[in-house]
Amino acid sequence: MPNTRSRAHPGAQNFVPETGGLGRMAEAVRDCRGCDLYRDSTQAVFGQGPARARVLLIGEQPGDQEDRAGRPFIGPAGAVLRRALDEAGLSADAVYLTNAVKHFRWRRAEGGGKRRIHQRPDAGQVAACRPWWLAEVRLVRPEVLVALGATAGQALFGSSFRVGAARGTVLDWPVPDDGDAGGTIPTVATVHPSAVLRAPDRDEAYTGFAADLGKVAELLTRG
Ligand code: SF4
Repeated sequence: MPNTRSRAHPGAQNFVPETGGLGRMAEAVRDCRGCDLYRDSTQAVFGQGPARARVLLIGEQPGDQEDRAGRPFIGPAGAVLRRALDEAGLSADAVYLTNAVKHFRWRRAEGGGKRRIHQRPDAGQVAACRPWWLAEVRLVRPEVLVALGATAGQALFGSSFRVGAARGTVLDWPVPDDGDAGGTIPTVATVHPSAVLRAPDRDEAYTGFAADLGKVAELLTRG
């Protein structure tokens, strides 16, 4: 069944363990029922990367291949991201990669067939999944965040965020104050790597994307 329902979501907060590290979170997310997306996907796809990564990148949601494999950014968009990270001097193995939403939202292709077409998660699903990526940020404590695309940007900065206006700039993301250290984390916004693949001029789109990630490397050098 495609994910076409729309209703209020209870949210993931009651499924996120209060203690434990990333491994415990990755196990717990499998049982999350914070929104309806778990029903039609293969599995939750939690973030991956070193527990003390200096950079944490947030995308939108797992795609078809990620949903099947249970790992983030392994499809074509992930290949674009890994190439750009590499060129910026940021090894993909040294950064933490995750998504704003942990289950794949899709619809069946018109005319039947098995192809699953990506559907952007709605605002309620993004809000429901927020406790998971917040837990990842709190555990990893990155020096720099990267918002890949509009969904990630809006998850971090609210619905008024526009990736076209914000990309390539360094924004201060206020860490929610709930007893933690608070403060802000410098955040670079850019497009989602899938936008590079959809662009009429892929080379130009890739150059802009790579330049945005180059700003992340600059920030780390300054830090
Ligand atoms: S998308 Fe997020 S909130 Fe919804 S069920 Fe999956 S992990 Fe839970």
